[in-house]
Amino acid sequence: MRTVACPSQVVDPWLAHTVRIVSITDEVEGVATYHLEFADADTADSYSFLPGQFNMLYLPGVGEAAISISSDPSAQGTLDHTVRIAGNVTGELARTDVGSTFGLRGPFGSSWPIDDCAGGDVVIVTGGIGLAPLRPAIYEFLNRKSEFGHITLLYGARNPFGMLYTSEYDDWQLRGLNVNTTVDRSSQAWQGNVGVVTQLLDRMPVPDPKKTSVLCCGPEVMMWYTARSALGRRIPKDRIWVSLERNMNCAIGLCGHCQFGPTFVCKDGPVIRYDRVASLLKVEGF
Ligand SMILES: Cc1cc2nc3c(=O)[nH]c(=O)nc-3n(C[C@H](O)[C@H](O)[C@H](O)COP(=O)(O)OP(=O)(O)OC[C@H]3O[C@@H](n4cnc5c(N)ncnc54)[C@H](O)[C@@H]3O)c2cc1C
Repeated sequence: MRTVACPSQVVDPWLAHTVRIVSITDEVEGVATYHLEFADADTADSYSFLPGQFNMLYLPGVGEAAISISSDPSAQGTLDHTVRIAGNVTGELARTDVGSTFGLRGPFGSSWPIDDCAGGDVVIVTGGIGLAPLRPAIYEFLNRKSEFGHITLLYGARNPFGMLYTSEYDDWQLRGLNVNTTVDRSSQAWQGNVGVVTQLLDRMPVPDPKKTSVLCCGPEVMMWYTARSALGRRIPKDRIWVSLERNMNCAIGLCGHCQFGPTFVCKDGPVIRYDRVASLLKVEGF
């Protein structure tokens, strides 16, 4: 396995590479993972990304959408995107079949601070489709397991049928990830936790808070409450990271669509240290 060591450079940020859909996995209602390959062999060889980064998916005649990369950064040549149908681009993508091609430019944006987490425990807190941008981080932590202490996933969904990548949890557990799930509304068959994901953080042991890192992605209100719980567990504010989402067009800090106070989500984010955006969380985007 190749380990991701250095940030990826985009040579021409406007250049869309052609990608082909190799297969599609239906995850939950309205959400599918597209397994892609580059049409051009040189691009397949040279493309790399860091966990937490995103691509702009370009469907000719329809438009572009920012979508996080959800695959293992060490798997050279293939790329996954997990997409929820939201509007024009994602709706059109849902109508495309295996073998179809479209454009992709990237990777863009900042990444999860994997190296900064070394030597301590890691808590990944996420909900619903927020697990997609954290899946590459999970692979990276597990690929480099010996560098970290306990690695815990706290994952919440509206109901038991709303969880992504369920077929991988046993493997993640075997490789050293402590997987904890919870749902807002249970069903008869559900034997697990019921309640919001922050309750799992409130209850879990945090033996060495100063060396514990929290990586969080979900609705902004959920990230705000997660940060509050983490601070309550004495985890320092500079060890809490969130991934932001804002409408964006150019992805390189020119158009201003994704501006969040002084921060451009596309180039300063999407992954940002909590203390740098705390005052802006819960402010509606437009
Ligand atoms: C960094 C980043 C990473 C992301 N990662 C993912 C990911 O991994 N997976 C994923 O599914 N999504 C992800 N998103 C979200 C995704 O980019 C948006 O959902 C995107 O808008 C989808 O594009 P679209 O063309 O399908 O939707 P759009 O057509 O842009 O519509 C999006 C929403 O806006 C509404 N809307 C559209 N036009 C109008 C209008 N004129 N007036 C009012 N409302 C309108 C639509 O009803 C819909 O609710 C990410 C976003 C960012 C910024």
